[in-house]
Amino acid sequence: MCDPRSPSHCLDLFDKLSEYIDGEMDEAERREIEIHISQCVACFGCLESLRRTIALCKQAGPQTVPAVFSAKLQTMIQHIQSAP
Ligand SMILES: [Zn+2]
Repeated sequence: MCDPRSPSHCLDLFDKLSEYIDGEMDEAERREIEIHISQCVACFGCLESLRRTIALCKQAGPQTVPAVFSAKLQTMIQHIQSAP
């Protein structure tokens, strides 16, 4: 088992967040993400931001989340995780 508080776990999970939001994921993986998010403020914040962005994109039309936004979120996670 990996430590759910470890930054690598967060980044690993981050890669799956968009799949999680789209529902393209099996039950076991969804549960793993839900458990982690309930315990990790950084990932919870990212999920909320991603959800809001996707909702806005859907209102605006059929677009994917911009790569720039995705990169920004990754930087944010790394920043939060590297804080003492
Ligand atoms: Zn996390």
